[in-house]
Amino acid sequence: MADTEKVEVKKKWKKRSDPVVIYKKWCKACFICVEMCPQKVFDTDRDGYPVVTRGLDCTQCSICWLHCPEFAITSSEK
Ligand code: SF4
Ligand code: SF4
Repeated sequence: MADTEKVEVKKKWKKRSDPVVIYKKWCKACFICVEMCPQKVFDTDRDGYPVVTRGLDCTQCSICWLHCPEFAITSSEK
C-alpha cells in the first residue's frame, strides 16, 4: 500500500466514533478479536465480520489490535 493511501486510511479511521475501528478490506473474519476481547465489545455481522456493538465497554486494552493477524484493527483514541 502506498504511503498516501495509508494516510487516507488513517484519516478515515480517525473520523469514526467507535473506540476501535475494523478496516473491513483487510479483515478475514478469523474471529480472533471477537474471542479475545475481555469486554466482549464485538459481535459478528451476517457475513461473519466483527462489528463493534458494545463500544462503551472498551478499555483500550489493546488485545484486539495486537493480535489481529491482518493489522485490520486500530484504536480511535490512541
Ligand atoms: S482479528 Fe483481525 S482479521 Fe480477525 S476477525 Fe478480527 S479484525 Fe478481522
Ligand atoms: S481494546 Fe480491548 S476492550 Fe477494547 S475492543 Fe479491543 S480487546 Fe476489546
